[in-house]
Amino acid sequence: MAQLLNGKLLASQRAAKLKEEVNKLKQQGIKPTLCVINIGNDPGSKIYLKTKKRRAAELGITQKLYQLPAEVDQANVVKLIDQLNADKSINALMIQLPVPHQLNLNEALGRIIPEKDVDCLSPSNVGRLWRGDHFVEPATAHGILALLDHYDLDLHGKNVVIIGRSSIVGKPLAALLLERDATVSILHSKTRNLGEYTKNADILVSAAGQPGLVKAGMVKQGAVVVDVGINRVHGQTVGDVDFADVAQRASYITPVPGGVGPLTVEALMEQVVGLTRRQNGR
Ligand code: NAD
Repeated sequence: MAQLLNGKLLASQRAAKLKEEVNKLKQQGIKPTLCVINIGNDPGSKIYLKTKKRRAAELGITQKLYQLPAEVDQANVVKLIDQLNADKSINALMIQLPVPHQLNLNEALGRIIPEKDVDCLSPSNVGRLWRGDHFVEPATAHGILALLDHYDLDLHGKNVVIIGRSSIVGKPLAALLLERDATVSILHSKTRNLGEYTKNADILVSAAGQPGLVKAGMVKQGAVVVDVGINRVHGQTVGDVDFADVAQRASYITPVPGGVGPLTVEALMEQVVGLTRRQNGR
């Protein structure tokens, strides 16, 4: 039976340290401030915003929310970003995803100045990530690496297979893993025979958002399994992995909930503090 990778516990341990760091900054007159732009009324976003707000408050980080109507046009989004870029009281800026279809998301993300781009989604920060000289890391990828490091799971030369090629999970995670000398494969919805790849994974990460996607027969005996997926099934939150069966084969596995999720929120707050320190020459 696999050992649990307890993201909830690790997140609370890291939060205690981060809180001390925030206090120290505040004693120097520096107030880390995160600003979130939310556009429209996506129900998932509402939950994430609430979680972020609560976590920020617990840590002493100020969170400002700008709520824009679903029918807002691109020019007004860009205008707001420019205004927040110039606002010295804001250290970190992000757009809550998803955004309504009429908007050009890439253009909006590219408008956020790299120094405040806490999600690491602006073109220059994505470039820095792949070049290995970045100063901000996407929260989920950062959280996953923190979890693997905490349990001393070596990455050097390991076969890591990631299911999902999104800009917020799969791609940035691949960039960070390459820096740590892992051999990385990214699978996606058009990949044929997922199992052929996943069976060779020493570490398997699923970020597809498909409940029941990863079955025990697709997992190598003794593999480490990281389930990023968050799905609602019959009122329950489940991941992408058939937990009960896969836990019989894996050596380590993340639960859902209580695995990657809490670490993502924690890692975001760490990035807010990191950007704040950088802007203040700390
Ligand atoms: P996305 O929809 O942008 O990307 C999903 C990816 O999975 C795509 O690249 C797609 O090609 C791939 N995919 C979908 N079905 C597949 C299949 N059957 N076989 C192989 N690949 C398949 O989603 P996202 O924003 O990257 O999020 C993915 C999942 O992770 C969602 O469930 C989301 O809620 C969750 N998520 C969790 C956290 C966390 O903190 N735990 C953070 C971000 C996202």
